Amino acid sequence: MKTTFAPEQLNDPATATSEKAIRTCVHCGFCTATCPTYVLLGDERDSPRGRIYLIKDMLEKNATPTAEVVTHIDRCLSCLSCTTTCPSGVDYMHLIDHARLHVENTYQRPITDRLMRWALLTILPHRARFGAAIALGKLVSPLQGLFEKLGAKRIAALLRMARTSKASAAELASSKAMSARKGSVLLQSGCIEPVLRPEFQAATIRLLNRQGYDVARAPGETCCGALAHHLGQEDEALTMARRNVDAWSTSRDEAGAIVVTASGCGSMIKDYGFLLRNDPAYATRAASISALAKDISEFVAMDSRPVTAATRKIRIAYHAACSLQHGQKITTHPRRLLEQAGFEVVTPVDAHLCCGSAGTYSILQPEIANRLGDRKAATLEALAPVAIAVGNIGCAQHIGMRTALPVVHIAELLDWAAGGPCPKALEQIESQKEMPRE
Ligand code: SF4
Ligand code: SF4
Repeated sequence: MKTTFAPEQLNDPATATSEKAIRTCVHCGFCTATCPTYVLLGDERDSPRGRIYLIKDMLEKNATPTAEVVTHIDRCLSCLSCTTTCPSGVDYMHLIDHARLHVENTYQRPITDRLMRWALLTILPHRARFGAAIALGKLVSPLQGLFEKLGAKRIAALLRMARTSKASAAELASSKAMSARKGSVLLQSGCIEPVLRPEFQAATIRLLNRQGYDVARAPGETCCGALAHHLGQEDEALTMARRNVDAWSTSRDEAGAIVVTASGCGSMIKDYGFLLRNDPAYATRAASISALAKDISEFVAMDSRPVTAATRKIRIAYHAACSLQHGQKITTHPRRLLEQAGFEVVTPVDAHLCCGSAGTYSILQPEIANRLGDRKAATLEALAPVAIAVGNIGCAQHIGMRTALPVVHIAELLDWAAGGPCPKALEQIESQKEMPRE
């Protein structure tokens, strides 16, 4: 795509990166077929190609975008399905990041939108505040239907999150290898997952210990910054990234990896090297931290001793989170690990399409998110599985709200297969002995 940026505009590294991405696009439109918003809405401006045109125009003119342009940028899920499809290798991820930043720096959102974004940014990335909000949400969750009737869909969406489960502090603490020691890892704590589904990390710790790894936490670690980043709040996102780089650089010692159980966080941490590339105090260490970050499925797949158990042949529908399959390009590990562990694994016909969770998207764009979520739950249920396996807390929540099937983390299933306890979400089914086994 031809561009007309002025030379002085290209002195800005973010603009130079965006210009390169725009020039790489050859308008072929292959990406439209796999873009969830285009598939749903059928509007070229809600396709990757259409958005690239809108962003190009906005950035070239260094203009304040119109409300219409902001609508189409906001509707992008940042699912990155388009980057998997694009034959030209357009760096859409950093282009839409730059567009969101430009919007936040130049556009005055309506007051209700600003308030909601402020609340999300003030609460979600802070575990204690989010935990308190969830506790409050539980108290008023019976009012969810009322909020829906009143049209307050964003508040209703928040209240739906207020169903939570538990794991003890001891289950989540640093712990030592249970078999012949191979090394140590740092486990990313995160902000949303430990509040809503702490059993995901409890299972991860048991699994890693059993595989021969000490598991430690880094004091001073904070939210990965992805929520702020996707809201266009770059300063806050980079502050969090720097804090994590400091924390992990100090604690890494002999750690062979920073293991991440939420793929949305994993994608962000793996991008720290890029995001801090122009900060001389952090660039090298950020790149090193990004290289150390591994999704739990990626890390276990690298292990010389795969989890194997031949007795648990139950049918699992695997939902591939966009941040894992498109963001991190991890497509085969989760399925292969589950199959090696004895599970029958099936995938939905629309495996490449986003479930609609996408960080804060399900709260800020509830109509599109609900349509995508309902569609995903239906295609997963059509596989008649015993449970749905995911690798990202956002997907677990968003899909879990729309199905009676248990939604579990891949690590819970691997831990179970390797001798750990039955995942909490599957306990009832197992106790009813409805679970078919070989
Ligand atoms: S990131 Fe996802 S929603 Fe956004 S343009 Fe690409 S495919 Fe469409
Ligand atoms: S597939 Fe890639 S090159 Fe083709 S229109 Fe989409 S972004 Fe541009």
